[in-house]
This record gives sequence, C-alpha cells and structure tokens, in this order.
Amino acid sequence: MDKTPIKGDAQPGRIKSVAGGLTAVKQTLSHLRTKKAGAIRGLRILGQMNQKNGFDCPGCAWPDPADHRSKFEYCENGAKAIAEESTRTIAKLSEFSIKALTEKTDFELGLLGRIVQPHISKNGSSYTSCSWEEARNVIQECKKNLSTPNDAIFYTSGRASNEAAFLYQLLGRKLGTNNFPDCSNMCHESSGVGMSKTVGVGKGTVSLSDFKYAEAIFIFGQNPGTNHPRMLSTLREAAIRGAAIVCINPLKESGLLAFKHPQKPRDILSKDGVALATEYVQLKVGSDIAFIKGMLKTLLEWQQVEGDIIAQEFISQHTAGLPELEENCSKTSWDQILDATGLTKSQIVRCADIYRRSSSSIICWAMGITQHVHGVANVQELVNLALIKGNLGKQGAGLCPVRGHSNVQGDRTVGINHAPSEEFTGRLGKAFSFSPPPSKGLDVAESIEKMHREDGLLFFALGGNLLSAAPDSAVVAEALQNCALTVHVSTKPNRSHAYPGAVSIILPCLGRSELDKQATGDQFVTVENSMSVVHRSQGRGKPAGENLRSEPAIVALFADALLDEDWNDYVANYDRIRDKIEEVVDGFENYNQRVRSESGFILPNSARELDFEALGKAQFTVNEIPTFETKEKGLLLMTMRSHDQFNTTIYGNDDRYRGVYGGRNVVFLNEKDLVKHSLKSGDKISISSNYEKKRCIAGYQVLSYDIPEGCAAMYFPEGNALVPLSLRDKQSGTPSSKSIVVTIRKHFS
Ligand code: SF4
Repeated sequence: MDKTPIKGDAQPGRIKSVAGGLTAVKQTLSHLRTKKAGAIRGLRILGQMNQKNGFDCPGCAWPDPADHRSKFEYCENGAKAIAEESTRTIAKLSEFSIKALTEKTDFELGLLGRIVQPHISKNGSSYTSCSWEEARNVIQECKKNLSTPNDAIFYTSGRASNEAAFLYQLLGRKLGTNNFPDCSNMCHESSGVGMSKTVGVGKGTVSLSDFKYAEAIFIFGQNPGTNHPRMLSTLREAAIRGAAIVCINPLKESGLLAFKHPQKPRDILSKDGVALATEYVQLKVGSDIAFIKGMLKTLLEWQQVEGDIIAQEFISQHTAGLPELEENCSKTSWDQILDATGLTKSQIVRCADIYRRSSSSIICWAMGITQHVHGVANVQELVNLALIKGNLGKQGAGLCPVRGHSNVQGDRTVGINHAPSEEFTGRLGKAFSFSPPPSKGLDVAESIEKMHREDGLLFFALGGNLLSAAPDSAVVAEALQNCALTVHVSTKPNRSHAYPGAVSIILPCLGRSELDKQATGDQFVTVENSMSVVHRSQGRGKPAGENLRSEPAIVALFADALLDEDWNDYVANYDRIRDKIEEVVDGFENYNQRVRSESGFILPNSARELDFEALGKAQFTVNEIPTFETKEKGLLLMTMRSHDQFNTTIYGNDDRYRGVYGGRNVVFLNEKDLVKHSLKSGDKISISSNYEKKRCIAGYQVLSYDIPEGCAAMYFPEGNALVPLSLRDKQSGTPSSKSIVVTIRKHFS
C-alpha cells in the first residue's frame, strides 16, 4: 500500500506578497551548493541554459525571447532543475533494500544523486548494477512473455526530446501497439481535446510577442510564480505598459500579485516590486465555467442594450453556435453563478468590463482548468470567451495553454499519442514500409487499470515518475509490481523505482546540459515550447558518468532487443531522425536547415490563421455549470505543487511564497472551515475521499489560509492517494486532481 511518507512537520511562516527578488538569487545559489553541483560550476552550466546555442531548460515550456536573451535567461526553478541534474553525488542504489526505498520521500530519493550505471532488480531484490548488454538481453528475454503487442506499454514524460520521442513511438508501433500513455494525459489533454473540438487545433495560438500588444491578459487556474516563473517577466512588462491582468484562482498566489525582477535594480530597490494583478478573482474550486458564464451573460446583456460589444463580424464570418450559447446564458441565473463561484456580481461585472474595453486579450490557463472531470468543458468555455470578442488570429490576442514540461507539446507533435490520426500512421507506415496498428491504444489511466488488472505486462518509461505523477497511488504501486518487466529511463532515483516489476531495470540517460557525443560527432536535440516554437538544445557539460547513454541511443537498444533491428545509424547522426520526422509530420519542412537558425521555427497553427476548415467554423459550445456533492461538512480539494517542486521532483521542503517551511504535510483551509470542524491551525487530521471505496491519509496538519470557504488545497504527490483513477474527464481521460470531494477528521495521536 503506497502512501507518500511524511517526514517532518511543516512550520507556518510569513506569506509573501511579492515573488522573485534577491531571495530567488539566494535560493539558486543555495540549491547549487546543497545539491553538490558547486556554485561556480553550476553558474557556468546555467550560463548556457536557454541561450541560442545552449541547452533548453528541462523545466517548464515557457518560451525563450526570440530576440535579446539575458545572460541569466533562467528562473530560480530552472536553476533548481539544473542543480538536481548537475549534482556530483552518485546514487548507490544497491545500498538500499526495495522496502527502504519505499520509505523515502521523493525529496530524499532525489538527494541520492545521479544514476550512472544500468541497474537491475529481480523478484524484489535490491537494485544492483549491470551492463547495458545484460539489460538488453533481459529485455529481449522478457519480450518472449508478450502474448500480444498490446501487453507492452510505452510511457513518456515531457522531458523526452523530439528525436527520442519519435524513435520511441516508431518502436512501439513497429512492435504493434499504440499504447503511448504520456504525462500530458494528466495535464493538458483536456486543452488538446477542448480546443480541437472548437477551433480545430489542440495548441496555443499566441506567440511570446503577442504579450507586448495585449491590452488585457486573463490567467485562469495557473500559478506562474512557481510553475512558469519567467512568465512573470513578461507579465511585468505588460503591467508596466498598462495592460490589465486578471487572475482567476482560488488561492492568492504571490507570483500573480507582484514581482521583483532579480535583474532589475529598480525592482530590487523598491518595496513592493511591480504590481501584476489588476483584478484577483478568488472563486471556489471547480467553478470556472460559472465565472466565465457570468462574464458572457454580462457581455450579452450589454450587447442587447448598447450593441457593438461582441465581435459580430468575426462571429458571423468564423463561428457557429452562438444562439444556443446566448439562450443558455440567459437561462442561467445569477444566483446559480454566484452560488457556484462564491463571488459577488459586481466582481464578475468588473472583469467583463475589463474584457469589453480591451481590443486584444490573451487567455492563459494551466492545470486549474484542465484537471477536472469537466476539464474539456472548462477549456471550451474559455474558447467561448475568446470567440465572443474575436480574440483569435490578431496581434495581442489568443488562447494560451501554458505547458508545464519542456517538451510535452513536442512529444505529442512527433507521435506520442495513444489515438494517432490516420494521416499520421499512414505517413509513418509509408516512411518505414510497415503497417502501424490501426486501433486506439491506452492513455495513462487506462494503462494503469490494465497493469493493475492483468499480470505479466511490459512497462517502459522514457523519463518520468508515473507513481508520483498519477492519481490513486496505491493502485499505481500495485500495477507496477504486477508487471513482468518495468524499464525506467532516468537520471535520478524516484518513487516508481521503489515499486519494481518482477524484473525491473533502470537505464541512466544523459542530462539536458550534458554533451551528447555520437559516431558522427556532437549531437543536438530539438524541443517544442508552449508557443509551438521548435528549437535546438545542445548540452556541452561533462556527463555525470562515462557509462551514460542518450535517450535516442537507449531507444535504439530497445529496438535491438524488441524488434531485432539496428537503429545505430539514427543514433550516429540525429539529422537522420529529423529527416524522418520531416517525412512524417506536417510543418517540419527543411527541418535540419531551419532548426539550425538561432531561434528555430514556429509550427503552423490553423486557428491562428482563422482557418477552421477542419470544423467548418469555430464552435461556440454550451457547457453546464458542474455541481459537487460536498454535503454538509465535505470540502472540495485541489492538489498543487509547492514552490520547491517541479512536477514530481521535490527540490526541497519549503513553499516560501505560501509561508510553509520544512515539511509538506499541510492542508490549506479557510478559517471558517477550521471553526466548523472545531480545529485550529496546526491540528493534525486524517483526510478521506469516498468514491467507490474510502481512501484515507493521515498525519497532515491544517493551516488557516486565504482560500474560499468549502475548499481545501494540499500538495501532490501526497494528495494523489485520495484521487480515484476513475474520477476523470470522459473525453480527455485527464484525472480530476483539482476537484475531489473530501472529508476531514481531527487526528488524535
Ligand atoms: S520559466 Fe520554465 S523554462 Fe524558463 S527557466 Fe524557469 S522553469 Fe525553465
């Protein structure tokens, strides 16, 4: 039974009202030191990050400026990612029993250091180092167990480069399966599905330069101060320029309130930095549709009275479905909207007024929108908001789902997709002279269900940490242990390694900042950011160990073991992989030539060109306001990252912007809910969810916090144990990690 171990009680401290500042610089240096990367060496490596001839940050997917780049073109959390990767500590996995590994937190596992040798565990034995040859032979041996290709599952994390991901999808399809669960299934899949159904493309439509012209920027369910920190520089410029910034988030996040740019003396010398949010909307968890419907209702009512409020010409030329939406908005009462959001009508009207006055607005969002059973509906409601004012296909306007992992968008573009289009498999089959499997494969939730239900599967993970990323941790742990073989391509130990299959192999890969030398010379890889810019990433640092291999080389080893095919030509020169991507994927014409330009190139986006041919017209949709059975004492829980965290990688136990130090065992609650439960800040509780069966975790302390009444927040992966796998969006398969009905009980120790 996996429950993320709790180590140390968090201590509450001062909540920050400004993000960034010199503390961000101090944090950067402290992480370089504590992670034993060395301050000087670490700063030298960081000096190459996000530079035009450097390597791409392995953190989030916020784009780099196309023109001028600062010498320090990174944020505190990007620096923490590199401190992790550049540690000189070498992991000695054989010193720990599997049980001992299960008792370590993700933070403690990360501190063990870099894995520099292949490792193997058999029948629950400790991991011992082995040769690449032995690993290859074991994989080949295990393949014999494969009764059907669909008993193999190929998981991908968003760190994988385009080149590695393309070979990986080719591997699985040549084996005969479309089982490509990937981390985007758990994050922006709802964006992809919701946008494809309404504007015909599943990617953002804005470029970084659009932020220079936007008159208003709406930010839904996103905490950029922690998850996309360089976005604060962009918001700072917009705020200084007078753009309105409207933040819609149950929690008051420092990074949305104000920002002190560490490289701007005027900010550092100022008391409060640059104020960002013009309007801060702390709505109840899961009520974005109600809020947006309130804005739409207001705009449509003003249109009735004053006319010339909505973009009529754009709407008549490019869209369909407005009459149904108008009817739905008029039938939706303000009581319904205000009850669902917990807001006042005047606040919603103020936001509608900001939106009305803006001739070009950008709508940004992240997990607070997508990780719900109504995630797709949330995204479609955002599209309604964009369409009603014609905020598409013009400068300073558009839709901007901000991706949380550096190449999660690129992986999907080059074929990591459990439901590939016929056009893609057709071109792939032609390029490699084989018949790719036609039937749809499994996404993350479906893969875990299959691994849990059936014995003897083969599970491959190209990066990532499925156990800590996915919901229903106990089920995921058992699912991994149920496999005949689990193979992880990793840089450092993580919790998924602590739940090995009958045979488990860990294969150590190069880090982003490390030199990738192959037969024809030094290689670079490519990635695609949130704004569809494909660009190079070339590490030049000395690898952490001589026996590391690149991701493409490791996938070639899989091809040798599983397909008995020699892919060393591709490994020798990645240009050959890119030639094949050019052959198979739209928008990559002259790939090798164009990607050698300093800032790479932008992939086509039909919605940005107002080309909705795939759908006929862009679609307004009617999305009902969701309701939650919280009953009298139930709470609606959202899980989230702390500031010392990137996805499942825990850099430290502090969350300084929210005033939490030295621990992660906290549940943020409104003071009224503490009173309702006869609790006071610091009291220990158990917290349960009750879907199909009861899931309960204990030893967490409640913390009085500025969050709407009836709502709660806690960190993941700790909170994942409460999220049932079955609680997911039916269209996108994205688990509902942002709205789970829970109950709490005082825990008497
Ligand atoms: S904003 Fe994102 S991509 Fe940029 S340095 Fe920070 S973590 Fe890395």
